[in-house]
Amino acid sequence: MPHTLITARWLVTPKAESAAATVDVLANGGIAIDDAGIIVAVGPTDELVANVPFEQRLSLPDHILAPGLVNAHCHCAMTLLRGAADDLPLDRWLKERIWPMEAELLDEQFVSVGSRLAALEMLQGGTTTCADMYFYSQAAAEAYLSVGQRAVLALPVIDFPTRYAADVDGYISLGLAARDRFVDEPLLSFCLAPHAPYTASDNTFQRVLSFAEELRIGIHTHLHETAGEVSGAIGQSGERPVARLARLGVLGPGFFAAHCVHFNSADIDALARHGASAVHCPSSNLKLASGIAPVAALLAAGVNVGLGTDGAASNNRLDMFEEMRLAALIGKVARPYSILYLTLSMPRRAPTSRTSG
Ligand SMILES: [Zn+2]
Repeated sequence: MPHTLITARWLVTPKAESAAATVDVLANGGIAIDDAGIIVAVGPTDELVANVPFEQRLSLPDHILAPGLVNAHCHCAMTLLRGAADDLPLDRWLKERIWPMEAELLDEQFVSVGSRLAALEMLQGGTTTCADMYFYSQAAAEAYLSVGQRAVLALPVIDFPTRYAADVDGYISLGLAARDRFVDEPLLSFCLAPHAPYTASDNTFQRVLSFAEELRIGIHTHLHETAGEVSGAIGQSGERPVARLARLGVLGPGFFAAHCVHFNSADIDALARHGASAVHCPSSNLKLASGIAPVAALLAAGVNVGLGTDGAASNNRLDMFEEMRLAALIGKVARPYSILYLTLSMPRRAPTSRTSG
């Protein structure tokens, strides 16, 4: 079978034996792919050239060849609202700027153009898969297919009317119609997305859960994004949102939550116990001054943690390398013992410098 050889200055591959998200980096490496696009060999360039018969070779002397990045939380069509609301906390950002703009602008064409722009931007930056929570899911699906972007369409459900749907029944039926239409597309998959605990009632979460269980699809939501979300929920019902979702039976291996910033040890334990996943969105959490998610503690508890950009309106980029860099940097500040560690590891001034000088 003829092969195509792709060789690059650097080859990055996941460590197969490691459960953690670590990689091997090889200088001058490549892959061979067959006619069906399946990778059939991986290794040093000179070994591939010597041992794998190939029909054509793509040489990338200045590139990194790596698996596609996964943007685990985005609102893709919001590329059209990039920079439209800056320097506001989440509550005012949503209520004073984003929701009023969406009430005026949202339609199928907005989502088609915005999602296509987002997909192209992500593909250029090495992101080949995104989880997209937004309205007009059919228009978004067509946009991804038109450019070859892999997407998990998070079908939105929210307790108030928008231009997209009038009520919870409307959101669910529109979302499931999109799934029915595109369910056989290999690049697309689906989950249900109640927007957040503060915009979806118990009844909405229960209805979503019953459809998710019946269709064996996941559930995606925003969770504990701000301190106000958590204190507001406690003020209303005495219950933290994570505890509420656990009581409703929503937490499970198919559940993945964006942000998870204001988590205590019980919240972290609940996600770990139910096999649920968290999505860290550092740029968004900084732009909206939401806080810093306790990622090290989540990982230590065994929670699967992904990275996301959130929508371009709360970032203002869709650059996963930027998210990786920020996650690494702010994670050091967020660890409570990091300052102590730095203090202890500072080199002491040699006593001889005083006596001899
Ligand atoms: Zn979001």
